[in-house]
Amino acid sequence: MVTSSNPETLALHGGSHRADPSTGSVAVPIHQTTSYQFQDTGHAARLFGLQELGNIYTRIMNPTQDALETRLAALEGGVAALAVASGQAATSFCVLNLTQPGDNIVSSTDLYGGTWNLFANTLKGMGVEVRFVDPADPEGFARATDARTRAYYAETLPNPKLQVFPIGEVAAIGRRLGVPLIMDNTAAPILCKPLQHGAAVVMHSTTKFIGGHGTSIGGVVVDGGNFDWEAGGDRFPTLNTPDPSYHGAVWTQAVKPLGPIAYILRMRTCLLRDLGAATTPMNAFFHLQGLETLPLRMERHCSNALRVAAWLAAQPGVTQVIHPSLQQGEAKRRADTYLKGGYGSLMGFELAGGAAAGARFINALKMFYHVANIGDARSLAIHPATTTHSQLSVEEQAATGVTPGYVRLSIGIEHIDDIIADLDQALKAART
Ligand code: PLP
Repeated sequence: MVTSSNPETLALHGGSHRADPSTGSVAVPIHQTTSYQFQDTGHAARLFGLQELGNIYTRIMNPTQDALETRLAALEGGVAALAVASGQAATSFCVLNLTQPGDNIVSSTDLYGGTWNLFANTLKGMGVEVRFVDPADPEGFARATDARTRAYYAETLPNPKLQVFPIGEVAAIGRRLGVPLIMDNTAAPILCKPLQHGAAVVMHSTTKFIGGHGTSIGGVVVDGGNFDWEAGGDRFPTLNTPDPSYHGAVWTQAVKPLGPIAYILRMRTCLLRDLGAATTPMNAFFHLQGLETLPLRMERHCSNALRVAAWLAAQPGVTQVIHPSLQQGEAKRRADTYLKGGYGSLMGFELAGGAAAGARFINALKMFYHVANIGDARSLAIHPATTTHSQLSVEEQAATGVTPGYVRLSIGIEHIDDIIADLDQALKAART
């Protein structure tokens, strides 16, 4: 196993896979199998009894997925990870692994729309309350906390506002009150290491930058192994009380010989077993393939975005450009504290001509793709007011940071001259 603290090396060599022990294959094999032959009945019993970790059934684990999980855990600095079918499944599991009806979590208001819906509607319907607080004031998390608060949740670099979350500040509040911080790091892989700033858990939609090529949906949860669930006692009943679905196992006790992996092991053995949001070996392979060049791509994403942000800010008809590089005051301080090596590839800008100009701009793009995705190697654009946010009222759109003339870009890794040329001709069309 190759050990390194450098992401460029870990993205290629981190985790459990070196060469396939039976074939010597250097690339991670796609283990397209549902099940695994047990050596004998004793072996099978030990695997089911968790005395030994090993492959049982691909809904719960798979060697290709394991290579992805261990590599992402290495990259984020965690102890173990779980790959699942989508980013949404990862977020759902992060919360459901700690909550029961009557419990609550405290979340930042600045969230991906799908997460917002999950928190405001679906979890509510399941009896889990999500208390939304403005991340501009980290102490809001403390004020919203009570004895049934099981976790804090936030995104590192949430769009459309693109204001970096105060990770260290809120993690410290959580550690004081015994509440773990879960970070969605989808928009800032490599650039930010939330676990280093005190977060307990990191999740990603691997659909985005990690996959990087817009081919496959997936999600991952990384357990930091740095949070004392046992000391939390009553705050974490799912981990500290006997689990009737696993012979009365108390997870924090049962996994002690295996390391500080109670949170992620319970997620795998209970939630993935029961809810079944397994990823596929093929998608795990695609995400591994993307991961191998992620550090290099992030460099180019960031350097291109920096140039585009500065260029856009000087264009007539553009009234505002939203990118961490152009922020000031506390927002800039947070960006500089938590993002290293670049400010990300996402940006937004406002067209003076409002919704009509936004639509003209999008329709005129020749190289940028008009899609609802982010984090593709290709440059992407969308006009939220007429698409992703069109079900919201103008007031609701404004509350989420979306105005009629707002355009969102995910800057790709093409040559910068071609990116700017496409934006230039589309801006001219928007002004006519
Ligand atoms: N988190 C963020 C920040 C996202 O942008 C997305 C998707 O856009 C998700 C989570 C959900 O991921 P997925 O689409 O893989 O379910």
